[in-house]
Amino acid sequence: MGDECFNLKIHLYGVQGSGSVFPSRRERLALQELMDIRLLEQVFADLSKRASPDGRIGCTLEEILGGKVSRQVLRSYRQRFEIEEARVYGGWTTCVHVETGDGCDLVFDCGSGFRNCAVDLQQKWAAAPRRDLFIFGSHSHFDHTEGFDQAAVCFDPRNHIHVYGNRQYLRALDQNLGIFTHQVDASLLGVQTPLRYELMPARFESCEIRDMERNPPPDDGEDRLAHSCHPLWEPIRIGATKITAFEVFHPAPCLAYRIEHGGKTLVFCTDHELRHGDQPDDPRQQASLQAEERLGQKVHGADALYRDGQFFRAEYDGYQGIGLSGGVPRLDWGHSCIEDVVDMAEMCAVKATYIGHHDPNRDWSERNWIDETLKRRSDHTGLRFELARAESVITL
Ligand SMILES: [Zn+2]
Ligand SMILES: [Zn+2]
Repeated sequence: MGDECFNLKIHLYGVQGSGSVFPSRRERLALQELMDIRLLEQVFADLSKRASPDGRIGCTLEEILGGKVSRQVLRSYRQRFEIEEARVYGGWTTCVHVETGDGCDLVFDCGSGFRNCAVDLQQKWAAAPRRDLFIFGSHSHFDHTEGFDQAAVCFDPRNHIHVYGNRQYLRALDQNLGIFTHQVDASLLGVQTPLRYELMPARFESCEIRDMERNPPPDDGEDRLAHSCHPLWEPIRIGATKITAFEVFHPAPCLAYRIEHGGKTLVFCTDHELRHGDQPDDPRQQASLQAEERLGQKVHGADALYRDGQFFRAEYDGYQGIGLSGGVPRLDWGHSCIEDVVDMAEMCAVKATYIGHHDPNRDWSERNWIDETLKRRSDHTGLRFELARAESVITL
C-alpha cells in the first residue's frame, strides 16, 4: 500500500482452497535446510575469495566479519548476501484486496486471509474519519466467508462496509451475526461464533447481485437481508472503477468479477469447474460449458487473472491422489484443472494468470515444482503463469 502510481494494485492475502493449511514440521525443516544451504554456499564463496592458491585463509575472524562476533556484527555480515525469499503458496483461504488508482479499497472474498487484510486496511486508514470498504463475495462456502468475524475492520465504528454478493453470500455472512438483518435465529445464536451485530460497531450495508430477469425480487415489502439490489450483468461503479459480476459453475451459486480501471483489467474467478463428465446431455455439463464460455469472454485480453486451478486432470479423474490423499474422482467438486486454466488463458491471450485455490492436501515442495513448471510455460508463450503466492502484490 505505497505511494507509487498504479491503476489497480492487487494484494493476494489468501489463495488457499477449501481450508487454511500451513507447512508441516517436516516441510518447515526441509525449507529451513534449503535456506541454510543457500546461505552457507554464499558464505563459503565469500571466504574462498580470501584464500591463497593453496586454499588457506590468512586472516582473522574479525577481519572476515568486520568486528568481534556479536549478533549485530553477524547480522550485518549476513546482509552482504542476497538469499531468495522462501516462497509460500497458500496458507490462508481466499481473500484478494484491490486498491484502485483513485483510492478505493475493494476486497474479493472474506476467507481467513481477510484477517491480515483488515489489519493492513486499519493501518492504511489510520486517522481517516470515515472509511469505506467494498466487499465482493463469490459464494457462500465457508472458505470464502470464515475470516469475516475476525476482521478488525468490523470493530471500528468509523468504518462503512458495503457488501456485494449473491443472496447466499449475504445470508452466509448474516445468519450467525445478524449484521444486515439485526436479528439472529435463537437456535443459531452463539453456536458458531460468540459474536453478533451488537458487538460489531462498523456500519454494514448489503447489496444483492441478482439476475432480475430469471429471478425478479419478490414484491412483499422490506427486504432485511438485502438493503438494495443490483442487476447481474450491469456494471457496478465504485469511483472510476467498473466491476462486472458474472456467474460461474460451482455446487453453490457463485459469482466471478471483471474489474476495470484506467484501461487495466483484472478478472477474479475462484471456485469454477470446467466439468469433464461423460454425459453431454447432463444439464450440469451444459451449464458448466456455458459458464466456461462466459468466463472466456470476460477474461479475453485481461492484464491479470486470478483463477481457481485446484487439480491436475489426472487428479480430477481420480487416477492420482494429491499428497497423501488417495485417488478419488473429483467430478462436481466445483474446481478446475490447471491444464484447462492454462489452455483458456493462452486462447484468450491473458497477460498474467495467477492460479490459486490450492488443494489443502498438496504439499509444499509440490507447490514449488508446479510453479517452476508454470514459469517454463510462461517463457515459452510470452504470457505469464504463476502459482498464486500468499502476500504477493501485483501492480497494473
Ligand atoms: Zn472455495
Ligand atoms: Zn466453493
